[in-house]
Amino acid sequence: MSTNAVELGQRFTNRNPATGELVSEHRIASPEHVKAAVNRARAAQASWNALGVARRIAILRKFQQLLLRDREALAAKITAESGKPLVESMLSEILVALDAARFCAENANRALAVEDVPHGNLIMKAKRGRLVYEPLGVVGIISPWNYPFSIPATETLAALVTGNTVVLKPSELTPISTLELQRLLHEAGVPSDVFAVVLGEGPTGAALIDSPIDKLIFTGSVATGKRVAEAAARRLLPVVLELGGKDAMIVLEDADVEVASSAAVWGAMMNAGQTCLSVERCYVHRGIYSQFVAACVEKILRLNVGNGAAPNTDVGPLISERQLQIVEDQVEDARAIGARILAGGKRLPELGSQFYAPTLITDVTTEMKLMQQETFGPVLPVIPFKNDDEAVAFANSTEFGLAASVFTRDSRRGESIANRLRAGTVMINDLLSCFAVPEAPHGGTGLSGIGSTHGLIGMREMVRPKYIDSDALGGMKKVWWYPYGQAFTRQMSAFTEMLFGGSAASRIRGTLKSANSLWRKRL
Ligand code: NAD
Repeated sequence: MSTNAVELGQRFTNRNPATGELVSEHRIASPEHVKAAVNRARAAQASWNALGVARRIAILRKFQQLLLRDREALAAKITAESGKPLVESMLSEILVALDAARFCAENANRALAVEDVPHGNLIMKAKRGRLVYEPLGVVGIISPWNYPFSIPATETLAALVTGNTVVLKPSELTPISTLELQRLLHEAGVPSDVFAVVLGEGPTGAALIDSPIDKLIFTGSVATGKRVAEAAARRLLPVVLELGGKDAMIVLEDADVEVASSAAVWGAMMNAGQTCLSVERCYVHRGIYSQFVAACVEKILRLNVGNGAAPNTDVGPLISERQLQIVEDQVEDARAIGARILAGGKRLPELGSQFYAPTLITDVTTEMKLMQQETFGPVLPVIPFKNDDEAVAFANSTEFGLAASVFTRDSRRGESIANRLRAGTVMINDLLSCFAVPEAPHGGTGLSGIGSTHGLIGMREMVRPKYIDSDALGGMKKVWWYPYGQAFTRQMSAFTEMLFGGSAASRIRGTLKSANSLWRKRL
């Protein structure tokens, strides 16, 4: 899409990835539209903030009720444009958003609570310090297609409840889910200028970054994330970047093979592998490797692939031909340099043009694209390791650092490995479900991003800490004010000794030599 097209306000469409049918058609928001939406959001922010946190929490609770009321129709809409199975739309989209609303309602007061800042330095004891958390103003959100409802919803709810207004640009592949979010929030009582959706492709997102927003919460690929970070840096716009992953799962020799193999298959295939937290590399101890691979192959071959709207579908289509080509390219590259494909490894044209068979690959090596780049498809590479050190080294061998998991019957050993893994989240004996824990911060390290969403830490990304310091001795000139001079310099040297001297004797000496400074004449 050229910038020119955006200026013309052209139309774009999105299609059902299972059937190819048209889902919706929209006008692209021009940069002027985007700026106008941001200006309206800015004008509306003061009164939204003045409404108070209790009223905003009440609106969130109302939103929860409305979301619950409409959940089945909404799940069908999410599935129609994203392709995911209906049950995943219910759990990973609607339930996650409902629970995020619960968390925001329960914790908004805590996120905004004034904190005392006690002073440890003797000379500062007459002051009272406080931290107040203020809304940032207008938060811009740019979101991806893989969780088109829950990702923008969790970020929006945290921003709104803390007193910000929001302008959101969803993925062009899944606009309907976000328009449904807008409908429900407006019906719950959020004014239209307080939460606005602007539709379009990359240039509309770029226009949002160029508009006078106060912070950007971006979720998407590493490549776009870098472009976004560059554009944001040009105007010193603070950003949270939730980017891609190459998550490792480690299966120790004491793990239950039956349980761990089910986890690996679900963790790699859920949402057709199009989850930032998908298992993209599975490292298994040599002692149980063959048994584990056999169990995974057997389970993968039992998965039902098809249209997500059918209730017995386990794995739906991929979102686009482009995504399919990335998956196919990585699998073929691996196959060409010696990988063995024990299940899948091919398109399923008999189901539609965007289906790829759930795939298990062994004999992979680190130079394969499959082991270095995000795959984002239903592909499970399984690699043996000989001991814990090797497993940790393998898991830490990419530049990503979103999440990881460890399967073991020994939770202390699991914790010890978790401490050594370079990732924003490590789960022991489960995977992916951390995204459904609204209390847990979500964010990565390395190429996986900057900052956090979710949890109290995610809410604090939506506010600006302001330090307020009040001196009880307002009628007294401070000791450290002018004038300076040799005597004062000596007294302050002694004062430093009084505070930090290594022995009682030096601290007493410092006290005696500095005491006179209290009575010196000040300017
Ligand atoms: P993407 O980077 O292609 O697009 C993300 C969003 O950015 C879309 O709304 C897109 O229109 C917009 N965009 C594109 N170019 C832009 C530009 N120049 N300026 C501003 N906005 C622009 O990503 P995607 O394909 O939609 O999503 C999949 C990716 O997102 C995967 O890499 C996945 O791992 C990642 N993801 C990360 C998380 C996380 O929490 N870390 C969650 C979900 C998805």
